Amino acid sequence: MSEWLLEVQGLKKYFPIAGGIFGRKIGEVKAVDDVSFYVKKGETLGIVGESGCGKSTTGRLLMRLIEASEGKVVFEDQEITRMSKSELRKVRRDIQMVFQDPYASLNPRHTVETILEEPLIVHGIGTKEERRKRVREMLEVVGLSSYHARRYPHQFSGGQRQRIGIAKALMTKPKLIIADEPVSALDVSIQAQVLNLMRDIQHEFQLTYIFIAHDLGVVRHISDRVGVMYLGRLIELSDAELLYDQPKHPYTKALLSAVPVPDPAMKRDRITLTGELPSPANPPSGCAFHTRCSLCIDICKIARPESVNLNGHSVACHLYNE
Ligand code: SF4
Repeated sequence: MSEWLLEVQGLKKYFPIAGGIFGRKIGEVKAVDDVSFYVKKGETLGIVGESGCGKSTTGRLLMRLIEASEGKVVFEDQEITRMSKSELRKVRRDIQMVFQDPYASLNPRHTVETILEEPLIVHGIGTKEERRKRVREMLEVVGLSSYHARRYPHQFSGGQRQRIGIAKALMTKPKLIIADEPVSALDVSIQAQVLNLMRDIQHEFQLTYIFIAHDLGVVRHISDRVGVMYLGRLIELSDAELLYDQPKHPYTKALLSAVPVPDPAMKRDRITLTGELPSPANPPSGCAFHTRCSLCIDICKIARPESVNLNGHSVACHLYNE
């Protein structure tokens, strides 16, 4: 068995654009365009980028909540992208998602107990008594109490609702959790509490995480490795420490320059990104970042830079050496 829990190869998701009176396909949005990476057991891989860069679509492709246009997703040596519906249902016990807006993913008409019990019923796990026992256990694991089981989602604060979202993800004893902007909707003080909780349960239950966020500052404290996406492509991927200390791609440098540094003696020059994020329906030629890159040279406008792997630090930029 491979040491990777998850391998992604050449993953693509192109959404067709329909137009004209007959609604024919007139183009496509390359939401995810040839993305490859792996995730080791027990680690956290952060995936970062501006909204519209394809990071959330990537998360959904991994669980096959949407179908890939091309490419492979392999989980524990089984190819998810080729599984039958029943195989897929089985593997979804092991892969769970935590969403940005827990309120939207928690049925407001159901009690917390019913909400948490649901994944166990779907997968045919346990008797009623066993399921209820697990609900109480998981509520305590996420810092709530068993008496919260009788309440409804609207009776909780945003932070508590996200704790319920995490408890729901834990119900089936998953191996991998894909967390899509899990703290973006929360106040900064609550963000830290939820991040700490996620780190604690990762150790307790030997979980592997894919942590998707738009903010490099949030991902920093939880990730072992970090990948940066821009217009559907993974443009840099490396150990978190190396990426934060020695970013190679100009886009990563610009994102990092906006992250506050805790030590006031350490100064980082602010690099302002000029221009809007181009539309993925009409991405720039060559390097997709060239319209916003202050280092752009002629070749950047024509040739797309391939990803170069420098001892585990991969970067897609013609000037990676400079
Ligand atoms: Fe900038 Fe060129 Fe590198 Fe793209 S390839 S990031 S345009 S220097």
